[in-house]
Amino acid sequence: MKEIIFATTNQGKVKELKMILKDLGVKVLSLKDINLNVDIKENGTTYEENALIKATTIARLTNKIVLADDSGLEVDYLDKAPGVLSARFMGEDTSYDIKNQAIIDKLANAKGSERSARFVSAIACAMPNGETFTTRGTIEGEIGYKIEGTEGFGYDPIFYVPEFGCTTAELTPEQKNKISHRGKALEEMKKILIQKI
Ligand code: IMP
Repeated sequence: MKEIIFATTNQGKVKELKMILKDLGVKVLSLKDINLNVDIKENGTTYEENALIKATTIARLTNKIVLADDSGLEVDYLDKAPGVLSARFMGEDTSYDIKNQAIIDKLANAKGSERSARFVSAIACAMPNGETFTTRGTIEGEIGYKIEGTEGFGYDPIFYVPEFGCTTAELTPEQKNKISHRGKALEEMKKILIQKI
């Protein structure tokens, strides 16, 4: 079976990607699975640039097909922050309970449509022959008034999806993958991978 490496240490992302790509007939290995510990400087200014930095760095080291995701939460009331800096917002080691409450607090005076937000995901693929591809997916929502739900990871407990009447942390993994930024970007990437592998 062909192997694809997913260049991340984020176990939330790994779980989602493995589920979304399970019908592709490839074995997905995370950096943890292959015991590769590299400190990659994500110094790009866009999701695509950062995803490409991660994918190409790991492809060079492993000579395998590598996928990488760079994603983030854009809160319109905060001028699209934390955006590409979502993982680093308030420090990487700060818990998401604290980060999520801080965002809710910053939006104390925002009402209704002023609370609009989106998750964005760019997926990059780097092939051993040097070819690269990127896809992007987004999901629109609102910042909730309180932390709700225990599924997913990161900012899911404050990302309210009006169509579902709950946060993405209250959706089942299958429901989230169908509508999420990462789910959409990966479905597009799957179409490319089917042609290429
Ligand atoms: P990256 O590893 O630099 O791409 O960090 C992306 C960060 O964006 C994550 O660590 C989360 O803080 C946030 N994020 C991205 N996708 C999601 C999601 O699906 N749910 C919740 N938070 C997310």
